[in-house]
Amino acid sequence: MGWSIPIFRVAGIQLRIHITFLLLIGWIAFVYYAQGGSPAAVAGVLLILLLFTCVVLHEFGHALAGKAFGINTPDITLLPIGGVARLERMPEEPVQELIIAAAGPAVTAMIALGAFVAGGSFVYPPKEGSSISDVLFTMNVVLLLFNLLPAFPMDGGRVLRALLATRMPYARATQVAANIGQGFAFLFGFMGLFGNPFLLFIALFVYIGASQEAALAQMKDVSRRFPVSSAMVRDFRSLSESATLEEAVDALLATSQHDFPVVNETGNVAGVLTRHDLIAALRKGDPSIRVGDVMRRDIPTVTTGTRFEEAFRIMQECNCPAVPVLDSMKRLVGLLTPENVTELMMIQSAMPRRRVT
Ligand SMILES: [Zn+2]
Repeated sequence: MGWSIPIFRVAGIQLRIHITFLLLIGWIAFVYYAQGGSPAAVAGVLLILLLFTCVVLHEFGHALAGKAFGINTPDITLLPIGGVARLERMPEEPVQELIIAAAGPAVTAMIALGAFVAGGSFVYPPKEGSSISDVLFTMNVVLLLFNLLPAFPMDGGRVLRALLATRMPYARATQVAANIGQGFAFLFGFMGLFGNPFLLFIALFVYIGASQEAALAQMKDVSRRFPVSSAMVRDFRSLSESATLEEAVDALLATSQHDFPVVNETGNVAGVLTRHDLIAALRKGDPSIRVGDVMRRDIPTVTTGTRFEEAFRIMQECNCPAVPVLDSMKRLVGLLTPENVTELMMIQSAMPRRRVT
C-alpha cells in the first residue's frame, strides 16, 4: 500500500504505518493538548498507542489463521480505520475465508472480555478517572462493533461474502458485500457532515476499500475461468543471454514492451530482463555487461494451459512484472503481464457473452 512507513518486523511480518494514521496521532495530541496541556496530550498519545496495540493483535489474529491454511502475511498496515493484513493470496474455500475473517474480531473480543473480567466497564468517551480496563474494554467493544459491520472492507463484510459465496457465485457475493459497504460509506459520510467530521474520513476509506474489493473479485472471477493462453502477449521480443545492453535498449525503444524474456543458446528461458534492471545496469556504464548478467533469474514460468488464477498467484508471490509462458514442448510462446488481465477484464465487461478460448 502506498504512503506507508515500515516500522518493525515481527515473526516475519513487516508492520507498516500509513501516513494518515500518523496524522491521526498528531491530531489527537493537538486536540488533547488544546484541552488540557502537555499531560493531556501524553495521555491522548498513550491512548492511541494502546489502540494501536489492540489493532495489531487483531491483525495478528487474521495472520495466524491464514498461516494455519498455509497462507503467509508479508505485511500489516495500520490505517486510521484499523489495520489491513495483506495475505499473500486469497484463501481457496469460503470456509477458510470465514475463519480468517473471524479470527481478528475473535482476538478483539478476547481482549474486551479480559478487560471486562478485570473490572472494566463501558465509558465513552473516556473520562479523566477511567481505569485502564475501562479504556481497554470500551476501545475493543467499539472496534468489535465497527469490524462486524456486514460490509466491505470490514471483517463482517468478509464473513458475509463467505456466507453468500456458499449459495451464489463468488463475484456476485462480493458485489453484494461491496454494495452494502458503499451504502455504509454514504451513511457515515452523511453523519459526518452533520456530526463528527472524523466520520467523513472513515467514509472515504470504507468507500475506497469496498470498490477495491469488488474489482479484485471481478479479476478473480475472470482469472478462474480462462487459461493463460486466452490473453497472453503472443507478439513480443525476446533477448539472448549474450545480448549487449545496447541491443536491449534498442528492443526497449522499438517496442512497447517493458520486460523481455531472455533465452540461452539452447533456446530455453533463462530469465527476464526488466526495464528497471536494464536502466540500473546502464547507469554503471560498463560496456562488457551482458543481458545475462543483469536479468532476473528467479522468474517462474507458466504453461499455456495454466489457469489465470494460478498464474496470478505465481505473479503475486514472486512479485514479477512479467511471466514467460511455455507450450507443452517447453518452448517460449507468450508473455503474461498484469496489463493482459486488465484488458481481458475490460473485454469481458464490454461483451459479457463472449467466450475467449
Ligand atoms: Zn480484521
